[in-house]
Amino acid sequence: MNIHEYQAKALLKSFGAPVAEGVPIFSADEAAEAASKLPGPLYVVKSQIHAGGRGKGKFKELPADAAGGVRLARSIDEVVQNAGDMLGNTLVTKQTGEHGKQVNRLYIEDGADIDRELYLSILVDRTVGRPAFVVSTEGGMDIEAVAEETPEKILTLPIDPDAGVTDADAAKLCDALALSGDARSDGMTLFPILYKAFMDKDMSLLEVNPLIVMTNGRLRVLDAKVSFDGNALFRHDDIVALRDTTEEDEKEIEASKFDLAYVALDGNIGCMVNGAGLAMATMDIIKLYGAEPANFLDVGGGASKEKVTAAFKIITADPAVEGILVNIFGGIMRCDTIAEGVVAAVKEVGLQVPLVVRLEGTNVEKGKKIINESGLNVIAADDLDDAAQKIVKAVKGA
Ligand code: ADP
Ligand code: MG
Repeated sequence: MNIHEYQAKALLKSFGAPVAEGVPIFSADEAAEAASKLPGPLYVVKSQIHAGGRGKGKFKELPADAAGGVRLARSIDEVVQNAGDMLGNTLVTKQTGEHGKQVNRLYIEDGADIDRELYLSILVDRTVGRPAFVVSTEGGMDIEAVAEETPEKILTLPIDPDAGVTDADAAKLCDALALSGDARSDGMTLFPILYKAFMDKDMSLLEVNPLIVMTNGRLRVLDAKVSFDGNALFRHDDIVALRDTTEEDEKEIEASKFDLAYVALDGNIGCMVNGAGLAMATMDIIKLYGAEPANFLDVGGGASKEKVTAAFKIITADPAVEGILVNIFGGIMRCDTIAEGVVAAVKEVGLQVPLVVRLEGTNVEKGKKIINESGLNVIAADDLDDAAQKIVKAVKGA
């Protein structure tokens, strides 16, 4: 689960990290009052969407040479003007995809006098099985280019979870970021604070880009992007309360209500499969035959007819879906339950696209009978290979 920058900053501040003063707003009328609470004379108006690259982003509704999704303002009037320009419009950044994201919230922040922009993140480094800091002196808006072109400018420092961030670790990070004087003592305090926030809140990513050295020599967290481990959310009600579902894929929200493992993808073949392994294999084989899956969907082991119906409805509601492949190997999940769910869902929402069904395993005969007697226009398949070829052919022929 992701949260907005202003929420991440409030969270990091509660752990003691230095962040700027700021006020989130939801409508342009709130802009003047929000700005008047800040010291000025420099303000920053920041689009709050769950994607980075906002500074260099472009608004669909504004001329191509208009400023991006993070703007400096030198007076309260300019804050108000920029807020009106940005709210309600669609921001396209490197991370949003071409559809962009509508900006429904802004963060009005105190402007900082920046000397240097650094990069810092904490993530789970799977190669060493530990949390790790990733830092670079080359922070700011082009860290992806640094990673590609000059990877030697990036330091990855795994942390021993039993010891936490030791003074020696913090010193290494300070060295890598070339911090001296006040900035160095700020860093020695800040790095353990960020690590504590990461661990206590079960984050999967904490990215501060940029972490800045200000002209007064002090450190400040200027941007913050935080993701949480979904499997640990049950123990963080305070984090769940920060969820902004308008930022999430509607189909994924619907799926989460039914406890379905569903991930929306860009292709046109909707998949309903049981078991994550079989779901992955199904996606692979669709690709092998030259098409793209529209989703990953694992209906799980003991799914009920209602759950299967919900899953089928989510797939058919996706306008990108031009064909559906149901691929079930009945073990704990019984083929007749799947068949009943599919038939019930089709009766409710209709079927506008070709449907290939491959059933195998427990109660397969019952399942096939239910489908055959339903009068549905189903293309039957014998095995995974056959099923994939048939759905790809049906979609490409259409
Ligand atoms: P994004 O990474 O989505 O582009 P950032 O929050 O990193 O958004 O902002 C982009 C750039 O805008 C920063 O690299 C920094 O140069 C500038 N900036 C952001 N916030 C402030 C601020 N409070 N004061 C001064 N400059 C800022
Ligand atoms: Mg940034």
